[in-house]
Amino acid sequence: MKKLFLIIALSANSIFSQEKFTRADTLLGSITPERAWWDVTYYDLKVAVNPSEKTIEGSNTITYKVLDEKNVMQIDLQSPMKIDKIVQNGNEISFTSEGNAHFLKLQQKQQKGKEEKITIYFSGKPIEAKRPPWDGGFTWKKDSNGKDFIATSNQGIGSSVWWPLKDHPSEEPDNGATISVTAPKNLMDVSNGRLKEVIENENTKTWVWQVKNPINAYAISINIGDYVHWSEKYEGEKGLLNMDYYVLRENETKGKEQFKQAPMMMKAFEHWFGPYPFYEDGYKLIETPYLGMEHQSGVTYGNKFENGYLGRDLSESGWGMKFDFIIIHESGHEWFANNITNKDVADMWIHEGFTNYSENLYLDYYFGKKASSEYVIGTRKVIMNESPIIGQYNVDNSGSGDMYYKGGNILHMIRQLIEDDEKWRQILRGMNKKFYHQTVTTKQIEEYISEKSKIDLTEFFDQYLRTTKIPKIEYSIDGKNLKFRYVDSIENFDMPVIAVINGTENWIYPTSEWNTKTLSSPIENFQIKKDFYVHSEEIK
Ligand SMILES: [Zn+2]
Repeated sequence: MKKLFLIIALSANSIFSQEKFTRADTLLGSITPERAWWDVTYYDLKVAVNPSEKTIEGSNTITYKVLDEKNVMQIDLQSPMKIDKIVQNGNEISFTSEGNAHFLKLQQKQQKGKEEKITIYFSGKPIEAKRPPWDGGFTWKKDSNGKDFIATSNQGIGSSVWWPLKDHPSEEPDNGATISVTAPKNLMDVSNGRLKEVIENENTKTWVWQVKNPINAYAISINIGDYVHWSEKYEGEKGLLNMDYYVLRENETKGKEQFKQAPMMMKAFEHWFGPYPFYEDGYKLIETPYLGMEHQSGVTYGNKFENGYLGRDLSESGWGMKFDFIIIHESGHEWFANNITNKDVADMWIHEGFTNYSENLYLDYYFGKKASSEYVIGTRKVIMNESPIIGQYNVDNSGSGDMYYKGGNILHMIRQLIEDDEKWRQILRGMNKKFYHQTVTTKQIEEYISEKSKIDLTEFFDQYLRTTKIPKIEYSIDGKNLKFRYVDSIENFDMPVIAVINGTENWIYPTSEWNTKTLSSPIENFQIKKDFYVHSEEIK
């Protein structure tokens, strides 16, 4: 997802953290007993889109594995969308509803270990997104030729805003999904994965897309427009990767120029993170009427074919204008969000912290380490430190917007602590291998980095992810002697930092107790290296 929203939403977020969560938050955000007993293996989603009425109708056939012999199943679909009918093995299934959660009373015995199918028919006029992609829903626009230009985006609000599913991030269909979208004849739908078939109907066409890998539900999307298409084959780490591009007819020239950054992105990110995680499904960039979203294997793009974030450099370092923010950031999510996915949105920094950091690593790859440092340091001024990065678990609460810039700074500091870029790169690549196509908790990520770096980062992560306090180094200078300690830090926080003393870098090891370091000559100049996100103050 995108930064601007989070800046705007921060005050709201800090209110959320004190808010009492509702029963609806628990139904959406937790693994309820009615969700726990079955595991989705496939979604076969069929949707017909009617632009003149702004309505949709369709079905989702869910294949699932029975983990436990229960017979009440929770399916999520948000009002005003309606479930028309539910069928299992020819029998119509009755259900009761509690808000947007629907409880299906299955008739046949659900045998442990068996795979079953259930089809949910639905229809309605889905919520229109007012500020996509931030509030979510359908966007109905026209291109400059008056043709329909339609897209879905639903990361925060949930996919159940337009289709019925088990709407929890821990649930990814293990074998992928088919997304069949019926659209007016003169337009094209581009969804996730590969185009398998185009069916000609009387006044419409059905575009059948197939995803072979597990996919996070919020990534599944509809994009309908008068698209032009071109493609290239990228020689990547796992062989030839299909890269396909779809832009509105009117933007073909601009698109062909700007999207040259896509293979550049692929090169930098395969270097830092390992092979693109979805070779089987290809990589696509698809123009949308909103800013963009990390839709898996079908990254959506609306950044006006300009560098920066809508033409701006949020870091104000100048480096943010060296790349197209949406191409780089949203594609970075293929590794962090789509390959490695949070089990609970409270841990969403795994998506946004690492992806924010991917912007730095892209700069590092093409412009060097100094560029990447200046960029990440430049973004610090938009960190709010009003509420912690980690949200509250089991209530669909994604924590503070600091997950982006503070998240990036956290990772930048770990790189300093490791002091070995090749080792750091192997850790980032190792994570993408170890947690390949998995949903994870932040604890798993923290432990992996600590283990592989051989640095116990427990207090480091607790300080920066779970408090809003930025550690401060208090110091005093007396001739050759330097005294220093941490304040505003949690118990046992002892991150070493580099002090630049008389122009020379020295590691110092502050704790909450006063420590002394004696230099060989009088200290005339002292500062903490800017790569460390700490405060410092001289005590006279
Ligand atoms: Zn993002």
